[in-house]
Amino acid sequence: MADVIDYLKKVRRGAMFIIEGPSGAGKGAVCKEVLAQDPHIKFSVSATTRAKREGEVDGVDYYFLSDEEYDKLIAEDAFYEHVDSQYGHRYGTLRREVDSFINVGEDVLFDMDWVGARQMKKKAPDDVVTIYILPPSVEELRRRLVGRGTDSAEVIAKRMAQFDDKVSHWDEFDYVIVNVNLNETVLKVQKIISGERMKRVRQTGLKEFVEALRREAKNG
Ligand code: 5GP
Repeated sequence: MADVIDYLKKVRRGAMFIIEGPSGAGKGAVCKEVLAQDPHIKFSVSATTRAKREGEVDGVDYYFLSDEEYDKLIAEDAFYEHVDSQYGHRYGTLRREVDSFINVGEDVLFDMDWVGARQMKKKAPDDVVTIYILPPSVEELRRRLVGRGTDSAEVIAKRMAQFDDKVSHWDEFDYVIVNVNLNETVLKVQKIISGERMKRVRQTGLKEFVEALRREAKNG
């Protein structure tokens, strides 16, 4: 029986989970926890032309590229999706990054804006699952942004100004969670992931498995 379960786990199609939400809603913390607790979900490292922030590591947080390197990748059709000049910089999801996980049945997690989420959903509607994280209140959102201690008052004001535009796309997402408590939100995301993993289309090994069951039953 353990062999069968191992086989079924291997013969499956990975899903792509996109988490989005306004700055300060907590998506970064949620992604971090989900990745830390589940070895079968991998983070898709995006390419960007923005400068590396303090503490960020090339190849871990992003692939930090020059405009020339980024343009070369566009010409090679190396991106699943990309947004130009969003927040004054460019961001893109690399095909090779995603395919290396999906092809071996691992799931992929993305931190991506709604523009990219929309593009991904259009390209792979059966494989893309989108989750939107909302803050419990604007007051709490502001408190979280200030409490992070990483952004200047100017950056916080900019993020608050983007709130309305960002949140106006909440209803394009498959699942929506109001992030009142980090642990509960992580649990909810994990439940979404396990539900999605059980979808018939993702369990590509089931066909053979059911055929074997039927053969066995027929042969007594
Ligand atoms: P930051 O510069 O703060 O790391 O990210 C800015 C925004 O870019 C965030 O909303 C983030 O979700 C989005 N982003 C990061 N990587 C990608 C990507 O590959 N594609 C798209 N469309 N957006 C991305």
